[in-house]
Order: sequence, then structure tokens, then C-alpha cells
Amino acid sequence: MAEERLPSRADNFSEWYNQLVLRAELADYAPVRGCMVVRPYGWALWENMQAALDRRFKATGVMNAAFPLLIPMSFLEREKQHVEGFAPELAIVTIGGGEKLEEPLVVRPTSETIIGHMWSKWIKSYRDLPVLLNQWNSVVRWEMRTKLFLRTMEFYWQEGHTAHAAPEEAEVRARQMLDAYADFAENEAAVPVVRGQKSESERFAGALRSYSIEAMMGDTRALQAGTSHNLGDNFAKAFDIRYLDHENQQQFCWTTSWGLSTRFIGAVIMVHGDDQGLILPPRLAPYQVVIVPIYKSDAERVEVLQAVDRLVPELPGVRVHVDRREGLTPGFKFNDWEMRGVPLRIELGPKDIARQQVMLARRDVPGRDGKQPAPVAGLATRVQQALDEIHTSLYRRAESFRREHTHSPADYEELKQVVQNGWADAWWCEQAACEAQIKDDTRATTRCIPLDQPGGTGACIRCGEPASRRAIFARSY
Ligand SMILES: [Zn+2]
Repeated sequence: MAEERLPSRADNFSEWYNQLVLRAELADYAPVRGCMVVRPYGWALWENMQAALDRRFKATGVMNAAFPLLIPMSFLEREKQHVEGFAPELAIVTIGGGEKLEEPLVVRPTSETIIGHMWSKWIKSYRDLPVLLNQWNSVVRWEMRTKLFLRTMEFYWQEGHTAHAAPEEAEVRARQMLDAYADFAENEAAVPVVRGQKSESERFAGALRSYSIEAMMGDTRALQAGTSHNLGDNFAKAFDIRYLDHENQQQFCWTTSWGLSTRFIGAVIMVHGDDQGLILPPRLAPYQVVIVPIYKSDAERVEVLQAVDRLVPELPGVRVHVDRREGLTPGFKFNDWEMRGVPLRIELGPKDIARQQVMLARRDVPGRDGKQPAPVAGLATRVQQALDEIHTSLYRRAESFRREHTHSPADYEELKQVVQNGWADAWWCEQAACEAQIKDDTRATTRCIPLDQPGGTGACIRCGEPASRRAIFARSY
């Protein structure tokens, strides 16, 4: 049962990624081109992400709801920028029950329009505000060039939507949810992110301002890992979402929307993985610990499995999986779980039982260096410590990789070079013409204008005009 090795990450990052997703049984290609099937191991990872995010949303007063998959086509046409942005990607239902529909229905690409429509009925007075809701669902966008998790026709996500009485409240909420995403990325997924504002050309269709968290992948390309939009009163005006204020005057609401999708699974794979396979961040891993029993004879097998059964209850609150598969060598199992990214392995054999210990092996530290005996007494504490150490070490590794590959080019020629294998952090005049020229010359786009700015002013890296903010330029997924 010898497994073929994965393609080398350094030599062929793209193929390494594709094969890893399939081989780790995270997802598979669906019969419809561009769609994916998320397999149980991948879905378990997504469920842990959902739980971590859902907790954060609810802590800010958000409640979950469910809106329909099908949206009248006319709804999308009501917000001009919105329909222009989404028209090329729409899937449209024209026949239902064997009959041509009077009005075509859109399979939701996102739900601002239908939620706006319902809010216009539900929101009457300032007392009804704010409205804070979220839904977990899937959406469809007709993508031509797809890649598992990163870009698929149908993907899973959450879309949060809020409505407020004042413009400042919408801005505060958009930023608050961006912070929630950054906190999730860093403290659950060990993925360092830059929080920033999108340029006008990269803004969400219909938004006043868009924000994103951007992460550097293992090939130095950027990935937009979550977005949050201040929609101003654009959707309120398009859908007539109004309320009576304290003075009994009709006012338009101010709305936001924010989303994070299964794309984030792609980020986790590409930030942490290595030539052996996945390395899953301990707080999100479906299995935090895998126990591999080691035995040579049937008698040993019985003894070891009994010891394993005594061990599992010693690890409450830890997601433990016991690999009881027969007819496979321990070495095969080690490789298999390494490929599937389980953060911590416990090996238990007759010698360990005699010494009242187990062997712990860290996924993030290959070979002997990552292996240490640990006494069975106090194992739970030791395992928890190890999982926290792995989280911290994954985060630090990703952060130092990003630091090494983020440059502050002195001039335009240098920018052209550094974005071939990294990010450029440079002054930008914020004019679309410069952004477009840089993209033509280098294929790098503005990823974001970081919220964290050094202050002062500079000269635009391309045109030399005065610039008040720096931007991140990078090639991206
Ligand atoms: Zn410029």
C-alpha cells in the first residue's frame, strides 16, 4: 500500500495543492464542472471554523436566519452597481415545474437584495434598529477558472447583514466584523493577516467602502480571506429600507454585509502545509490528536488496545482519534496522518506501557526533534500545552515568512521585481490609472490599503504624485 509522494511544494505549488486536497480527502471534483464535493474530513474542518466564527458573531449580538436560495431577477437590477458586478456570474432559473417562468429567478450569488426587500417590510421605526443577522449557506457564482476551495461555482460561507440608524454605526459595524475575522484568522487558524481597505476598483459591487483581511500563502501570493462592507445607504435607497426617527421623520437605514467562505480552508492549506502534506492548526483540526497503537503480535495488540482505551478518557476536551486499522504498519499510519495534518500523534507500544509513558510527535517539527516521551500521569496538561505550542509556532512561522517576503521598494523598477516573489508595501496615490498600470506591468493588484499606516506622506511608487497612504501590491488568488 505504498503511497505516492506528493509533488514538491517548492517545485509545483499548484499541483501540490490540488493533489493534497484530494489525497487528504478534504474535497473532490463534482460531476458539474467547477463544483466541489466537500468530504467529511473537510467538512469537519469547516464545522470547526463555523463554530469559532459563530461564537464571535453572537458575542456581538448577531442572530442567525435563513433566506431563500432563489431571488427574483428584478431584485438584482434595483442596485445598478450591484447588478453590473454580478451579472456575468449569475445562474438563472427560467423553467419551473415544466413551465417557463414569468420572471426569471436568480440562484443567489449573495443575499443583499432579498434581505433588503424583507427589511423594507420589517423595519418601521428606530426601535427596530439595529438589525444584526447572519446566515450560513452556499451561493453560486458562474466561475470559469476554478480551483477546489479557492474558487468554485458553488461555495459555502456565512453572509452577515446589518441595518443601522446612523452612518457611523454602519462603519463601526463593518470594522468590528473585520476585526472578528482577523481575530479568528490569527487565534484559531494561526494565519497572520493584514486588515485593510479595498481600493475603489476592488470594492464590492454596491458598497461605499470594502475592507478585507489579506494573508500571504506559501508561494507568497495573497489571498483575500474575508471581507466586510459598509454599504452606506445604497441598498436602503434601492430597496426602500426606511425607519421613523425620534422626530417621526422618515430616514433611510445604513447597512453592512460581511462574509467568510470555504476559501479559508484553501488559506489554511497553503499557509501551513509542507511536502509531507497538511499541517492543520490545532484549534480547528478535526482530530487534534491521533493515537497509533504499536504492536507485533496478537497478544501485544490486545494489551496495547486496552491501554489505549484507558488513555482516551484521560484526554477530555481534546478531539482524539484512535487509528485501529488492521494490517497497516505504524510507519504507514504515521505518514498517513502526517499527510492529513493531525497536529499531534501519540504512539503507544508495549515498552511505553511498561514505562507508563507515551511518545508524543509534533506534526510541525518533523523527525526525531519533534518526538518526546511523556508520562501518562498529567498527559492532558501536556497535550494541551503541546497543542498551544504548535499553534504559536505555526503562527510565528507564517508571520516570519510574510516578513521575509514583504518589501518596501525604493522605486518602480524594484516594485516590479519584488512582486514576482513577494508583497510590495509602497506609497500609492490611490488613482485607478496607476493601479491599472501596475497590474498590466506586473500582474500584481492592490490587495488593500492597510488600516495600520505609518503616518506622514510619500510619493506614489509609480507616478511620484503625493500619496497619503501606503498600499500592499501583490499577485493574488
Ligand atoms: Zn500614482
